[in-house]
Amino acid sequence: MATNDTGPTRTESKRFLVQCDGCSFEQSANGRDEATEVGTDHRQETGHELVAVELPPSVDSV
Ligand SMILES: [Zn+2]
Repeated sequence: MATNDTGPTRTESKRFLVQCDGCSFEQSANGRDEATEVGTDHRQETGHELVAVELPPSVDSV
């Protein structure tokens, strides 16, 4: 058996922007887990509904 890619998980590259539907809360997160954590945290505090938007990997700021 050939093992080519068995390194550590590289799923941290995805970035999400967690936005709230009930207030102006907005926070970026690295990875889906963190986005879920941020959303769950705010939801438990406020009861608001949140949406996680996936951000593009490369951001051109011009
Ligand atoms: Zn909120």
